Amino acid sequence: MPETPLLLGSSNPGKLREMRELLAGMTYRVVAPGDVGLRGAPAETGATFMENAVLKARHYASESGLLAVADDSGLSVDALGGGPGLYSSRFGGEGATDDDRNRVLLERLKDLPPERRGARFTSAVAAVRDGRVLFQAEESVEGRIAEEPRGPNGFGYDPIFFYPPFGKTFGEVSGPEKDRVSHRGKSFARLREFLRSWRDVPS
Ligand code: IMP
Repeated sequence: MPETPLLLGSSNPGKLREMRELLAGMTYRVVAPGDVGLRGAPAETGATFMENAVLKARHYASESGLLAVADDSGLSVDALGGGPGLYSSRFGGEGATDDDRNRVLLERLKDLPPERRGARFTSAVAAVRDGRVLFQAEESVEGRIAEEPRGPNGFGYDPIFFYPPFGKTFGEVSGPEKDRVSHRGKSFARLREFLRSWRDVPS
C-alpha cells in the first residue's frame, strides 16, 4: 500500500528537523512545504498556541490537499509575565537571529536569581485533513532561564533553557534526550498514537 503523505506545516528549519525525527519510523511519507511547492506562511493571528496550531494546519491542508500537521510553540518566562509566549519566533525584532533573541532575553533577566528565572516551553499540535480537525494536543515542559547560553544542540531558545532534572540546558543534550521530556516530544508522542490508528479514507 502506498504511504500516506503527511505535510509538516512549518518553515522553521530547526523545528522541521525535530518534527521529522519525532515522526521517524511511521508509515507516512513526511514532506515539508517546500517539497510540495508551497511558499510563505499564514499570519499567526490566534490568541492561543492551539488556535495558531489549528490555523496553520488548516492553511497547509487546504493549500496542499494533504493531511497536514502543525505545531505552534513558544517559551513563556515568568519574569516577563509569560512572554515572549506566542511571540517567541518574533521576539527581538525583525531580522533577529536565535542568538540575538537569546541575548536580549538574558539581558532582560540580568541579575535575577534562579528562583525568579522560571520558564516553560509549550507545544500545541494539530492535524487537519479536508478542512476537518482530526487531532489536537498541548504539552509543556518546565525549566528556567540559564545565566548564559550553553551547548551547540537544538535550535531557538534551547541553549538558554535549563532543565533541572538533567542539570543541563536543552542545548547540551542530544535530540533523543530532549525529545523524551520536551513539550514537542510529548505532544508528538500523542500525535504518533493518533496517527498509528488513523486510516486515510475519503470523506
Ligand atoms: P512558531 O513556529 O511560531 O511555533 O515559533 C515557535 C518559536 O518558539 C521558535 O521559533 C523558537 O523561537 C521557540 N521554540 C519553540 N519550541 C522550541 C524548542 O523546542 N526549542 C527552542 N526554541 C523553541
